Amino acid sequence: MNPALDETHDPGAVSWVESAANHLDFPVQNLPLGLFSLARDSRRRAGIAIGDRILALDRTAPLLEGDARRAAQSCESGTLNALLALGAAPRRALRRAIFKLLTDRQYASEVSSALSPASDCELHVPANVGDYTDFYTGIHHATNIGRLFRPDNPLLPNYKYVPIGYHGRSSSIVASGTRVIRPTAQIKAAADAAPSYQPTQRLDYELELGIWIGGENPRGEPIAIARAEDYVAGLCLLNDWSARDVQAWEYQPLGPFLAKNFLTTVSPWIVTSEALAPYRIAQPPRPDGDPAPLPYLLDATNQATGAYAVTMEVHLQTAQMRAAGIAPQRLSRGPMSVMYWTVAQLVAHHTCNGCNLRPGDLLGTGTLSGPDATSLGCLMEISSGGRTPIELPGGEQRTFLQEGDRLVMTAYAEAPGRARIGFGECAGEVVSPSEPSS
Ligand code: CA
Repeated sequence: MNPALDETHDPGAVSWVESAANHLDFPVQNLPLGLFSLARDSRRRAGIAIGDRILALDRTAPLLEGDARRAAQSCESGTLNALLALGAAPRRALRRAIFKLLTDRQYASEVSSALSPASDCELHVPANVGDYTDFYTGIHHATNIGRLFRPDNPLLPNYKYVPIGYHGRSSSIVASGTRVIRPTAQIKAAADAAPSYQPTQRLDYELELGIWIGGENPRGEPIAIARAEDYVAGLCLLNDWSARDVQAWEYQPLGPFLAKNFLTTVSPWIVTSEALAPYRIAQPPRPDGDPAPLPYLLDATNQATGAYAVTMEVHLQTAQMRAAGIAPQRLSRGPMSVMYWTVAQLVAHHTCNGCNLRPGDLLGTGTLSGPDATSLGCLMEISSGGRTPIELPGGEQRTFLQEGDRLVMTAYAEAPGRARIGFGECAGEVVSPSEPSS
């Protein structure tokens, strides 16, 4: 048996929290970590999602012992950074202890008072993100985007050797539900047009997974590939909102800047590495002729189990569709396993020069497009660079996002004989730059 598996992964386990039974995202096998506040009390508290409820960890800590209690108490500062700093063993102890409280009916009366309806709670970015790095591991995305610029040579020569990434901005990382104000910046609308300062006309999303870092490495000490997963606390969904016209004008020679740093939305729950243990799969083999990763990025165990059986979806609902009662339209569905590099390879590469990662750092995978037209991770690809509009139910068309458009990303992990666990929503609605804040 996989040593990472324990009683918390039993597909037959049942919680006395009735809404958790067969819950699409938060059955008792998931137990993701997050930060919430109640309307009557704005204090931010650590919580765990169970069905349609949120369990407050500060209210539960007195019922716990040892490492689990220490983990629950570490969250009293109003962020999860201290919990992420503890690393995997206390996090696993907390998971097993909470699982026991939520599955053994003798604790129901004591624990019930620590549960709140999720609908009464506001969810926040779970940790203070010190640094945010966005990678570019989606090889189909990199190829499709590269082809728009360089039809004969879509992938640059470094792509299959170096996990490409850039340092993003943490101040504008927000939780699901935050409005997306159409950014204004410098644009050069056509080859013969003068640059102007105006709202972007090519507002796009990027479907990504986020990687939450737990633990830290001292500066100057790389994390070896074989140990890299010890530093992965869990995953979330991430939308790297992008202004394509701003990006096209500004990106050379130093890469993304104002086209990206106005907003990044994450789903608020950290689906922990422990919860994801049953859904690990082999990294798909590289196509014939591709170079093997350099030795510092290659580990047999990581190649055998370093990918995740996670499926991601994107849905769009325009204001007109909402008014007409038309359900959101799915724009794509595809697997996380299209990553050319594993999560562990990203961690090892990020630190190979001695760069130090810290608890609460966030890494993005890059846009994860699948190989076909039903699994593309952004509108830039779906609309072929804005040339081919998509048709929406109700008669509207889209090449890029318009005011009132609400975009929702979801994801779930599945494996034969295992419960399905989900990530919750990563959602945002586009508003005009002139709209007053609320
Ligand atoms: Ca991105």
